[in-house]
Amino acid sequence: MEIPFNLPYLTGKETTYMAEALASGKHAGNYSFNSRVKDLMERKYNLKGVFLTPSCTAALEMGALLANIQPGDEVIMPSFTFSSTANAVVIFGAKPIFCEVRASDMNIDPGKIEGLITPKTKMIIPIDYAGVPCDIDEIMQIAEKYNLTVMQDCAQSYGSLYKKEISGKKAHLACYSFHDTKNYSCGEGGAIAVNKAEYRERASFIMEKGTDRNRVVKGLQNKYSWIEKGSSYLLSDILAGMLLAQLEGEDEIKAKRKSIYNYYFHHLKDFVDRGCVKIQETDTFKISNYHCFWLIFNSNKQREFFIQEMENKGIAAYTSYIPLHSSKMGLKFGYNKEDLPVTEDLASRLVRLPLYPDLTLKEVEFVIQSIKEIFKKKFKLSNL
Ligand SMILES: *Cc1c(COP(=O)(O)O)cnc(C)c1O
Repeated sequence: MEIPFNLPYLTGKETTYMAEALASGKHAGNYSFNSRVKDLMERKYNLKGVFLTPSCTAALEMGALLANIQPGDEVIMPSFTFSSTANAVVIFGAKPIFCEVRASDMNIDPGKIEGLITPKTKMIIPIDYAGVPCDIDEIMQIAEKYNLTVMQDCAQSYGSLYKKEISGKKAHLACYSFHDTKNYSCGEGGAIAVNKAEYRERASFIMEKGTDRNRVVKGLQNKYSWIEKGSSYLLSDILAGMLLAQLEGEDEIKAKRKSIYNYYFHHLKDFVDRGCVKIQETDTFKISNYHCFWLIFNSNKQREFFIQEMENKGIAAYTSYIPLHSSKMGLKFGYNKEDLPVTEDLASRLVRLPLYPDLTLKEVEFVIQSIKEIFKKKFKLSNL
């Protein structure tokens, strides 16, 4: 049996909506499917000030522009994240200040943020690893104390809940991804929720190449011109059509992922109790969108052994991020591997299991059966 790590999922309505968008003759950004997606987000999650973007990377850049990130600024973020989190501010000349993560959920350790704040600190960018929300209440408290902007990288967590609200709702800015590898996909796509109302009009200028075209669309004036720094941060309405189909299928997609996640959880608990591996812990006030299921082995060697054995059985189990501080770019910023020992260590022991809606029960059983065999071999465990 061959089990890939991820497979995109279609709800069935994508083709209809995309064809409708094509037939409308309006293919650029901010037409009817853009509006329908934004309406859905507002109805379902009370998300306001949403702008659909070509990617989460673009949304993060837009957020950095909105927050006026300048050369010399410092921005605190976990080192255990994707390059886009750092690039968003690095392209504007800021320095990423890397913070450690916690082993329980691999999210930024809020207790370690304050020690990194200097007079140059402008922003904090926490991420929601594996779809599990970060501790945004604690992070917002720190941000208020030092007057910092918080932009939450929710690339993996669209539809996850923090204290009954969608993750990202409490930050000043929240960026979501609708990339092929995420739970809800339009191939390449993203969104920024500008929760801070004072930022919204400028956001509409920035995304339209720095023009006030939005005011013309609204009938407030009849000509538009260049009034701001900006770029093209629009999602084509054809892709917004695909995204609408995906988001209308959110509950069904989430339920499918949840049942696979719970199957893994249930069957691996025994190994966790025996101390062979750790898995993520989620606070009761957080509900994941089940983006990813990960394990942490006791050593890097065990993890490498596990990945190889899984591969031998035809199952793709993947490592995760190479910490940014010890990557080529991180070293250029003057970091050393030893600067973030917790992150370095955890990242070297973590592995992710296949998880996607079309994974069948038979396949999930095969994954678990394979894991049990590998563990028996490696840990010489009996009575499994
Ligand atoms: C996937 C991901 C991104 C990038 O998303 P795109 O939509 O591909 O630009 C950014 N940050 C994190 C944490 C991600 O997982």
